[in-house]
Amino acid sequence: MRKLYTFIMVCVFASFSNQQIQAQATPDGFGFYQAAQTQCLLPEERASIKTQLRQAIETLDLPEVNSLATTKFIWPVRAADDMTDPSFYGISNFVDHNANFSGVNNDNVKDYNCGTRSYDSGNGYNHPGTDIFLWPFPWHKVDNNSVEVIAAAAGTIIMKMNGSGHDNCGNCPNCPWNAVYLSHEDGSVTWYGHLKNNSLTTKAVGDQVAQGEYLGVVASSGNSTGPHLHFEVYADAGLQQLIDPYAGACNNMNGNTSWWETQKPYREPTLNKILMGTAPIMEAACPSMAVTNEATHFMPGDDYTLTLFFHDQMDLDNVGIKIIKPTGVVLSSWNSTLSNEINGSYWFWNRSIPNDAEDGAWKVEVTYHDQVEELIFMVGNVSSNAEIQVTAHCQMANPFGNFLDIRCEHSIAIEKVELYNVSGKILLQKNTLSGQANFTLNTTHLENGIYFLVMKDKNGRLLESRKLLKAAY
Ligand SMILES: [Zn+2]
Repeated sequence: MRKLYTFIMVCVFASFSNQQIQAQATPDGFGFYQAAQTQCLLPEERASIKTQLRQAIETLDLPEVNSLATTKFIWPVRAADDMTDPSFYGISNFVDHNANFSGVNNDNVKDYNCGTRSYDSGNGYNHPGTDIFLWPFPWHKVDNNSVEVIAAAAGTIIMKMNGSGHDNCGNCPNCPWNAVYLSHEDGSVTWYGHLKNNSLTTKAVGDQVAQGEYLGVVASSGNSTGPHLHFEVYADAGLQQLIDPYAGACNNMNGNTSWWETQKPYREPTLNKILMGTAPIMEAACPSMAVTNEATHFMPGDDYTLTLFFHDQMDLDNVGIKIIKPTGVVLSSWNSTLSNEINGSYWFWNRSIPNDAEDGAWKVEVTYHDQVEELIFMVGNVSSNAEIQVTAHCQMANPFGNFLDIRCEHSIAIEKVELYNVSGKILLQKNTLSGQANFTLNTTHLENGIYFLVMKDKNGRLLESRKLLKAAY
């Protein structure tokens, strides 16, 4: 209650100082990631893998004793190059440190932070890894190879398992997973499971990998309810001493020693994605892909749905939203308060583009905790004939050819230029112009057609946007 009260006071104050009322708006709907829990690996399979790994470590003559625990990990997943979303994952389960079991599933569960973000089974299984799930649109991400598994530390490949289907949705006891296993300099061993079939590194068993090197693609092979990475760590080549890389009060394996180079906080409230669409998303039964209803080009008067996706959203979190015209003027802005603490969530708002909306590159700007993110969307009539727009500050050929020469007044400090297609996808960008007035984009590889050029200042503010035609041959 106190937080809400404070927040209202701030709003009132802001409306006086900025002459612009920040309306409080309730979202029109929400949803969340449903993390069903299954044993990432059944006991017999884990035992068999351990036997094979011990053998491999011996055959390859790799370090067998861990007394140093010098290995430090980086985050074992990363976005592929063409992913532009601010984030792409959440954490559904940590290692379970409560060894008791009562015959009932999830009855005695304790993560490293003394919370319950883990699971066990009534027959004595305690989840031994960190589960990092894809969010949002996990199946799109699997299909597009959007999230890559990387080596948490430099090491040697000791085993690869490939050849299994990767679109599993639940209990699948006889389904092997696809996985890569590494041995590290200090004798510790890391497991990367549930990978996409045929996505594994082409390097062979016995080869070295650098920290951060590609190992595969996150998917849902094996006994898995949806796309996620299961990351499991052992201190020793004998695979006796399980490690939870997170240091914390209830970590009864390695206690206060974190194995992360930089340990992420227990909750890291993060805006994963901004989505503009013609309607709310439609979830689909696993493993079908959800319908995104994504759209990045609208006409004046069109209805739209703005959806924001989060991981680790906290109860009473505030999110601020601005809809900004091509000129940089704010058309509308509002704040919403989110409820509950959720591993992966989304909230949406239904709105309309004004009937008199001007053509060009519009922007949604979202402020959440310390994060400020934006998404460009196009408004206006996109025909095959580009309109020659008169510009206040810059000159350029329109239509343009294989090179786009841009000459601007020195008075406008351009820091960044971006070229979008009509679907709102960024095709080209230059980031450090430092106020340079003249520059050239190489557009040789672009097909003939309509594009939007967006110029921004060093604070990311939209200076000018132009609709252009490429007509080279
Ligand atoms: Zn797991």
